Amino acid sequence: MMDLRTKAKITWCAGCPNFGIYTAFMNVIKKLSEERKIDINKVVYVGGIGCAGKIVNYVNLSSVAGLHGRALALAVGIKIANPELNVIVFQGDGDTYNEGLSHFISACKQNPDVKLFVHNNKIFALTVGQNTYTTEEGFKSKSLGEEVFMKPLNPIALALVSGATFVARAYSLWLNHLEYVMRRAIEHKGFAFVDIIQPCITQHDTRKYFEERMYKLEDVGHDPKNFEEALKRALEYDYNLDPNAKVPIGIFYENNRITLEEGLKSLVFYKIERKYNLKEILDIVRI
Ligand code: SF4
Repeated sequence: MMDLRTKAKITWCAGCPNFGIYTAFMNVIKKLSEERKIDINKVVYVGGIGCAGKIVNYVNLSSVAGLHGRALALAVGIKIANPELNVIVFQGDGDTYNEGLSHFISACKQNPDVKLFVHNNKIFALTVGQNTYTTEEGFKSKSLGEEVFMKPLNPIALALVSGATFVARAYSLWLNHLEYVMRRAIEHKGFAFVDIIQPCITQHDTRKYFEERMYKLEDVGHDPKNFEEALKRALEYDYNLDPNAKVPIGIFYENNRITLEEGLKSLVFYKIERKYNLKEILDIVRI
C-alpha cells in the first residue's frame, strides 16, 4: 500500500476538519495512481498561508509553499512552465477570496489546467478569527471586537460568471462525497475550483448549521452542463448562514474549452528555447 504521509508533525487542532481534506486528497491520489491514471512523480501541489497551507508539509508529493493569496498564481506559472505536470493548489478562504481574489478571477477566465481546493472556514483561523470575504454578517470574535457588517461574497456564483469550467462545493467531513468531487476535479481538463466547507472547530464551529442544511446536487438530478441552473443553485446559499437556506454541495457546473497552456502554445514567446551554461551561471554566483 502506498503511504503518502510525511513524517512531519501535524499541528492542526485535534479533530480539525482539515484532516478530512488531507485524507481525501491522499486517497484520491493513491487510487488514481493505482489505476495508472496519474503519475505521482508528475504531481505538484502548492499551498498558501494559514491552517490550509500547512498541508504542503504533510503529503509526500512534490510541494511548494506559496505566499498569502499567491499560491494559485504560482501554480499557474508551474503549469505554463511544464504542462506535463498535474498541478493542485490548496488555499484558505482568506488566501483565495481576499488577498488572491484577482488571481482567482483570472484563473476562472484563463482556464489553466490547474485544480484549486479552497479550505473555507469563513475566517482567518490561524490568526484567531478575523473575518474574510465569506464571513457572515453579525459574526464576532475576540480578535475582531466588532460584528461583521458586510454581506459575504458568493465565490460559487463569482466563479460561474467569471467563466470557470468546473465549479463545485464539498464538505470536509463527508469523506466519500469529498473524494468523489476531488477526483472529478483532478480528472477535469481545465481550471477546476472546489469550495470545501471546512468548519474551524476552535474559532467558528459551523458544523451543525451545515449538516442540517446540506443536500447533494447529484441526489436531485442537477445537470452540471446547464449554466443557468448552476447559477440558480449557487444563489440558494449566499454564505450568510441564513437559517432558511439550503446548502447545495456537489458539482454545479462542468464544461470544456481551450486551456491557457493550449492557447499559449501558439504564441511565439512560449517556443523560445532557453539556452544556458550552468558552469557560467555558477561562476557568476560565486563572484
Ligand atoms: Fe483547524 Fe481552526 Fe485549528 Fe486551524 S484553528 S487547525 S482551522 S480547528
